Amino acid sequence: MNIVCLDLEGVLVPEIWIAFAEESGIPELRRTTRDEPDYDRLMAYRLEILRERGLGLPQIQETISRIDPLPGAREFLDALRERTQVVILSDTFEEFARPLMAKLGWPTLLCNSLEVAPDGEILRHLMRCENSKLTTVRALQSCGYETIAAGDSFNDLAMIRAGKAGFLFRSTAAICEANSDVPAYDGYDELLAAITGAL
Ligand SMILES: [Mg+2]
Repeated sequence: MNIVCLDLEGVLVPEIWIAFAEESGIPELRRTTRDEPDYDRLMAYRLEILRERGLGLPQIQETISRIDPLPGAREFLDALRERTQVVILSDTFEEFARPLMAKLGWPTLLCNSLEVAPDGEILRHLMRCENSKLTTVRALQSCGYETIAAGDSFNDLAMIRAGKAGFLFRSTAAICEANSDVPAYDGYDELLAAITGAL
């Protein structure tokens, strides 16, 4: 039994925080883990900015609803789901991803979540588990699945390497070079063909 584990941001949709920073006109929200490696501090910084601007979850979801999946992502995902089981493993939050999942035909998404007050204020982020991508891939393997993974970034390498096949997709030159044993693709057709070949 196969299951394909796909990263979300950079593979199927744009980087959500960067797209949100542009869509909302709040450039401070472009800050990423490259600028602040401590994820909890980065999230506290982001949530403080949203609070200062009076932005609660409904306003954020409304802005995110204007962001589209990457061109061709929906067709790729639909074609892949006809062939095998697919799960999206992401470090984003269910509540943010929701408008994008609607545009992707509601695929299965395993990610993190937010604690939200009745008035919509985001109180804090709740991480599902440690090293969520690798932990989830291992869990799927423990119940009889062979995993095939694809992602674009550092946090995808562990799940890419843990399965029977793994691919980099639209990654950086530096990551591709440092992981030259991992096949790297830039087009959905190539990735679909590679995954299909590995099934
Ligand atoms: Mg990514």
